[in-house]
Amino acid sequence: MKTIRDLYRIGYGPSSSHTIAPRAAALLFKQRNDQAAKYRVTLYGSLAATGRGHGTDVVIYRELAPAPTEILWQPETVLPYHPNGMRFEALSPQDEVISSWVVFSTGGGELREENQPPPPSVYELHSMREILQHCTQNGLAFWEYVESREGNEIWEYLHQVWHTMQAAIERGVRAEGVLPGGLGLARKAWAFYRRARLAGPKLMENAFLSAYALAVAEENASGGLIATAPTCGSSGVLPAILRYIQEILDCHEDTILHALATAGLVGNLVKHNASISGAVVGCQGEIGTACAMAAAAATQLLGGTIRQIEYAAEMGLEHHLGLTCDPVDGLVQVPCIERNAFAATRALSCANFAMFSDGSHLVPFDEVVEVMEQTGHDLPSLYRETSSGGLAKSRLEKDL
Ligand code: SF4
Repeated sequence: MKTIRDLYRIGYGPSSSHTIAPRAAALLFKQRNDQAAKYRVTLYGSLAATGRGHGTDVVIYRELAPAPTEILWQPETVLPYHPNGMRFEALSPQDEVISSWVVFSTGGGELREENQPPPPSVYELHSMREILQHCTQNGLAFWEYVESREGNEIWEYLHQVWHTMQAAIERGVRAEGVLPGGLGLARKAWAFYRRARLAGPKLMENAFLSAYALAVAEENASGGLIATAPTCGSSGVLPAILRYIQEILDCHEDTILHALATAGLVGNLVKHNASISGAVVGCQGEIGTACAMAAAAATQLLGGTIRQIEYAAEMGLEHHLGLTCDPVDGLVQVPCIERNAFAATRALSCANFAMFSDGSHLVPFDEVVEVMEQTGHDLPSLYRETSSGGLAKSRLEKDL
């Protein structure tokens, strides 16, 4: 299992797989082929199906400029390795191909070539069961296990992640106006935030959690700087939980960084053993994983044991099983933005539920990860970030 740095990527929205990774690929290809007279980029599968809404073409044009670039969209062609395929070609003035590179955006901003050897493993244990056993035997918290594998340097990186998350909340609760993309969707976070401050204690919890989650998700939808957790589309869930609990418990920053480490371990297990890509397993892999991460972080911040943390994470994922990815117009807005708010409130419910229990439960976290992956493969491609089914289809029909 790799470093949690790869799970928490700092970059510009709206999509880790459709903007962060293609931008990085374009930059790399241009560095290797800076003498090209022009470029041609072919986008396959889900990248082609929802790339226009997600702004994939915009970031590719921008990174490859000033050389002219042609983009070919092939949503019907799905390369066998992964549904998010890209072919970059460097062309001579006579349109001869001088260099070609096929690369895949495999989720959470990661790039992989088909035959690339696996990256070095940072974690020697690859299941929650083994990690729980190791931590129990050695009296470790999950965050201490992360530190033992990643070294002390991880705290500086998580500090940057936390500051990126907080800055996105600050910008998001102040910004007003319409989100880009043409749906005519107005930002809501600022209104939620103001009303949350006026709300009585019964409503305050949901109102603040929603305001913070909406703030980051709306910043993401506007192409703002966010930290993936585990993806751009689901980047509002964990910051909302961390910020809300920090405020009510007056947590020290180190305590928040420890919760980020635990959440990172949970997300990493899903990424390693299943997928966090909406194009592979649907939204359960994005919002479901974000909820599991946030539930784990919340339980730790509330003083839970490692068994209660595992239980909360399991519930966060279990109760998102089957969640489809069907973004309207291929934009990371509907249903994505509200889903962040609902997952944040659910994450806190999972943490509270786990805290009332002794941590024992029937379905272990590893099993629900397996089920999530299988469910994702069983979902028709209509519901895996192609914008051809579900809400995306019904909205399109209403517009006709
Ligand atoms: S529906 Fe979920 S998986 Fe799909 S783009 Fe939106 S947040 Fe990502």
